[in-house]
Amino acid sequence: MTEVYRTGIGYDIHRLVENRPLIIGGIRIEHDKGLLGHSDAYVVLHAVTDALLGAAGLGDIGDLFPDTDPAYKDIDSRILLTKVMEKLAAANYTPTNLDIIIHAEVPKMSPHKKIIAASIAELTGLPTTHVSVKAKTNEGVGPVGQAQAIACTAVVMIQTTTT
Ligand code: MG
Repeated sequence: MTEVYRTGIGYDIHRLVENRPLIIGGIRIEHDKGLLGHSDAYVVLHAVTDALLGAAGLGDIGDLFPDTDPAYKDIDSRILLTKVMEKLAAANYTPTNLDIIIHAEVPKMSPHKKIIAASIAELTGLPTTHVSVKAKTNEGVGPVGQAQAIACTAVVMIQTTTT
């Protein structure tokens, strides 16, 4: 019996605009702007979903849930992540841990890191101790630094057991 480990990386960025709620990792955060995008623009969940797909070699979020398909307009990203978790399970993969960086100049993410980690842990079936959420500003540089966008980088390890 051999245990196989694979890693995956995911990245996403969405523009910050007025009249949208700000939802990070499935958690609503009070802010005067929110993220613009097809579906619900959950930047962190999109990065996590892509990392999982990449690790399993199952394509990417754009392949599986194309933004040209009206079925995915305004769909809750938690549903997409749940679908991807089912695909991983069907392929005999289980995540072992996630490491996430939220790139945001505003609002301050540090007070929300634990609850975001708990939300992602619940969605992925991981213990909260295996979901790391870090936050970084962009030092005022570029679209993230100018508070025009929020980005996320996620790295995941998954494991499978083969006989
Ligand atoms: Mg996205």
